[in-house]
Amino acid sequence: MNVIRASVLGYCAGVRRAVDIALREAAARQKVYTAGPLIHNPAVLETLKVRGVEILEEDVDAPCAARGAVVIIRAHGVTPQSEARLRDRGFRIADASCPKVKRSQTLAQELSESGRRVFLAGEKRHAEIAGIQGYAPGGIVVESARDALESARILFAEDPAAETAVIAQTTLSVEDYAAICDALQMVFPRITIYDTICSATRERQNALRTLCEKADAIIIAGGRNSANTRRLVAVARAAHTVSGEATNGAAVAGKPVVLVENAREIPEAFVTGTYNTIGISAGASTPDEVIDEIERALLSSGGALKGQP
Ligand code: SF4
Repeated sequence: MNVIRASVLGYCAGVRRAVDIALREAAARQKVYTAGPLIHNPAVLETLKVRGVEILEEDVDAPCAARGAVVIIRAHGVTPQSEARLRDRGFRIADASCPKVKRSQTLAQELSESGRRVFLAGEKRHAEIAGIQGYAPGGIVVESARDALESARILFAEDPAAETAVIAQTTLSVEDYAAICDALQMVFPRITIYDTICSATRERQNALRTLCEKADAIIIAGGRNSANTRRLVAVARAAHTVSGEATNGAAVAGKPVVLVENAREIPEAFVTGTYNTIGISAGASTPDEVIDEIERALLSSGGALKGQP
């Protein structure tokens, strides 16, 4: 059995920066909080917890003892209203928002202030989208092409002359964004489309597609609640045209794709020589140690490391 890593995988620059800021603050101070989970990875959150970093729910009043403490804004960013509330409560802010997310926030604010109606293509419940929406009050979140068409028609019925623009969640797949933009253009042909998909996302997705050509089975390492990790799973499944539902336990017809948060979750079929070549990719919030651990588990089951595609 051969084991191949994707040529680009794991931590992106924005996540690495956020984790570095958090670890630095934790080493320097007594009271450090993060505004919501810093990133979507359980292993990293556990490390921060061990070092005394607490997660602060933004809408919960901070305890008086926390005054003067530091709150780290996560890589996904927060709404300006949330940041203002934290400052009002006496927190010092350490802003670990990814600079690319900051750019989307600024863009959304400028568009909104210039009178545009802003569509936000992404997951309705994702922190990044919620944060950007705070900069573009009235921003319309659309998750799919169908959703986009429906929302655009509703807006058109209210205001056929609306000047519109669309911004993507940084981790959206290129294909999904193209489909959403096509749907919006059917109703608002003059809509301005901004390409705000992060190159880190694109690079990981492209490297994964190349990996899929060489591997019989794919492991995606990352948090189950990480949007970009789940997108990698979708990309691999599309590339492998898996028939049937790939699960974390069983081999399925077609080439299987599994998401694991750590080496203990690797399905048995992956370590019993069922596949000739296993490919590993990882979401942008997956630490190097988790990837190394998974690779070691495959190699110790009889795998051999191959060069990257
Ligand atoms: S995926 Fe891109 S936008 Fe998101 S944190 Fe990483 S570098 Fe920033």
